[in-house]
Amino acid sequence: MPVYEYKCLDCGKEAVVTLSLKDRESGSVVCPSCKSKKMERIFSSVMAKTSRKS
Ligand SMILES: [Zn+2]
Repeated sequence: MPVYEYKCLDCGKEAVVTLSLKDRESGSVVCPSCKSKKMERIFSSVMAKTSRKS
């Protein structure tokens, strides 16, 4: 399944989530930290993530 990177607009944490197309279309992306559904898609490369700390 494809992996998507999201950022939570409520707590500001980034999360990498694995979603099926059906999950993505239904908008069921939930922040693993605060359970918020205000998740914003991030298009940065997952590979670049290892060299970045926040
Ligand atoms: Zn959150």
